[in-house]
Amino acid sequence: MLIDDASTKGTEDAGKPAENGSQPLVRRTFAIISHPDAGKTTLTEKLLYEGGAIREAGEVFAKGNRRRARSDWMAIEQRRGISVTSSVMTFENDGIRFNLLDTPGHEDFSEDTYRTLTAVDSAIMVIDAAKGIEAQTLKLFEVCRLRGIPIITFINKVDREGLSPFALLDEIGDKLALDTVPMSWPLGMGGMFRGIYSFEEKRAWLADKASNAPCPAAIAVTGLDDPALLAGTGMRAGDSSLDDAALAADAFPEFLPAAFQSGDMTPVYFGSALRNYGVSSLLAALMRHALPPQPQPALPEPIDPAADHVSGFVFKMQANMDPNHRDRVAFMRVCSGTLKRGMKLDNSRTGKKLGLHNPIFFLARDRAITEEALPGDIVGIPNHGTLRVGDTLSERGGIQFTGLPDFAPEILRRIRLNDPMKIKQMRRAMLDLAEEGIARVFRPLVGSNWIIGVVGALQLEVISTRSEAEYGLPIDFEATMYETARWLDIPDDALNKRFVAAQRANLAEDEGGALVFLARNAWELARTQKEWPDVRFLTVRERV
Ligand code: GDP
Repeated sequence: MLIDDASTKGTEDAGKPAENGSQPLVRRTFAIISHPDAGKTTLTEKLLYEGGAIREAGEVFAKGNRRRARSDWMAIEQRRGISVTSSVMTFENDGIRFNLLDTPGHEDFSEDTYRTLTAVDSAIMVIDAAKGIEAQTLKLFEVCRLRGIPIITFINKVDREGLSPFALLDEIGDKLALDTVPMSWPLGMGGMFRGIYSFEEKRAWLADKASNAPCPAAIAVTGLDDPALLAGTGMRAGDSSLDDAALAADAFPEFLPAAFQSGDMTPVYFGSALRNYGVSSLLAALMRHALPPQPQPALPEPIDPAADHVSGFVFKMQANMDPNHRDRVAFMRVCSGTLKRGMKLDNSRTGKKLGLHNPIFFLARDRAITEEALPGDIVGIPNHGTLRVGDTLSERGGIQFTGLPDFAPEILRRIRLNDPMKIKQMRRAMLDLAEEGIARVFRPLVGSNWIIGVVGALQLEVISTRSEAEYGLPIDFEATMYETARWLDIPDDALNKRFVAAQRANLAEDEGGALVFLARNAWELARTQKEWPDVRFLTVRERV
């Protein structure tokens, strides 16, 4: 570890839950968001390595498996333990416990990813220095913004030719409407890469120009004109990247924690995940700047992490890989209290008590020892369908966490059943999957063909694989005439009646009975919106 004492500065008042003195570790619960290929997997591995969770980079994601992350969900072929635990990775460093939640970032861009972001307190946004902000980064960023999740930016692959650091910072500022503050600077890029200079830590990691060697130990520097810096890089005073660094140090605003925490400012770190440059600074930034467990929005009032009773919400469901048992693992974020094995918690949706006999604690060191989880931690709760995404579990009852988003599906399909006699079973299976949060089921007000709606194409694959494996129902999908769906918010009953009467043929109910408008195309949607200015057509809906 190259982090000195100063790196933990700012964590003293980091919101450690007072009542939970039995376990002194504070938490950083975070996710990494990025477009595919920006380097999320490589960075994850290096963070785990830098944080001391693994001894050798490469331990977690053996090369062959790396690209298979997308099949986690289907994973008939995968061992379940692996895919469940890789959803939550934890490590401890300098008295802080890090919970890194995996967001499946590849082409299986699903609601699961969005919802996982509701369970974190901060996010690292990885950007490929050659590509800048890409489509998926933007989408994920928007979800973070919706939730007010502060973002630390890591500009990766500076060891390759890329856009200039100024251009990258401008792009983040323009496209994301964020104030950027470079906390470090690349000393050259691509073939000219000579290391990273940290303004924040007054240190530099210097690259040997002759090789692709991994990052050496940091050297302390007094400034950009430090002779050691010049000697170590072979640069001369006046070299363009030194000039740029000096310019950047003057040109950008000071880092303001409050602006970062409100989601208006992002500290930007440059590095190379592959060669381990900038990773230790990122880890230090998580300690210094990332937020400890935050109060969570709930009814009747937000829940403070320091509250002395246990509460949490389910943000993700993972299917068991054993097709004979419809087991699921529900992932719950603990929001307050000290959760222990054997506890009985109230499920606010059903009003029933649930005994936590076999919770999976995701642990940093020794899986066998810790039998409790604190705010910010994630526990896996095996169940047979008693839990759903969005459920609130609490010791006292009377609480409902809010704000878990549902996203308007971008793909709508009709189901073709090979055996028409099994329509009832098929409907049951689809409702099950909808309850898990994998798909939306739309029942048109006119006609009897149910429509399945998903956010990403991979979800369709998951549905057909699971329908066959778990329910013995082989299914195909066929196109519908609809292209998109919107939930409706209609302010009064009279308007509701008129709208339903006029638009009946384009309306459906989702699995929870909410009214949905199905549009054949964007033009039709826009026209209907224009005709009904008082009706709100929603692409994102918050549960409860
Ligand atoms: P993910 O899809 O975001 O998880 O990206 P990966 O971590 O799998 O990386 C995608 C590709 O970029 C792989 O071939 C990595 O070896 C490469 N890569 C990741 N980080 C760096 C870096 O810092 N420098 C260079 N040159 N390549 C990198």
